[in-house]
Amino acid sequence: MKEIVQFGHPSLKITSSEVLKFDSELKTLTDEMIDIMYNAPGVGLAAPQIGINKNIFVFDAGDGPKVAVNPHNLKLDGSVTFMEGCLSLPGYYWDIERAEYASLDCYDINGRQITYEGDDLTGRVLQHEYDHLKGKVLLTALKRKERKIALKNISLNGFPGKDV
Ligand SMILES: [Zn+2]
Repeated sequence: MKEIVQFGHPSLKITSSEVLKFDSELKTLTDEMIDIMYNAPGVGLAAPQIGINKNIFVFDAGDGPKVAVNPHNLKLDGSVTFMEGCLSLPGYYWDIERAEYASLDCYDINGRQITYEGDDLTGRVLQHEYDHLKGKVLLTALKRKERKIALKNISLNGFPGKDV
């Protein structure tokens, strides 16, 4: 099974590219991503988190595994602060303000258009994973002062959560 890369890895910092082929390779990759996500365990995993800079993420906000390919047209509404972590920053959680509701158009593994939407956990996961495809990790959603403290903590303590 592929390893989840951690904060600092170059693939977490760059913009991912579009998926052009909806073939069996894509299906194999997304199946593997779902396994890695559940194994972690987590509620979402973006391809850059396993070192693959393609516009793909998987998530399960409570109603089974979902695949999002080439997501676009993110729509947001409202605002809510919620405790949030990331599989690439194991052991850390921050209160992060994001839109309460998110809707995101994408494609499934067969290339069919699909829209994912929701508030609460679904809205949060859609925004978090979409950020990964743009080369952003959740630290960028923190306020400047909080981000400074977070970076200091990480450099001092590493990732205590990775062995849990
Ligand atoms: Zn993440």
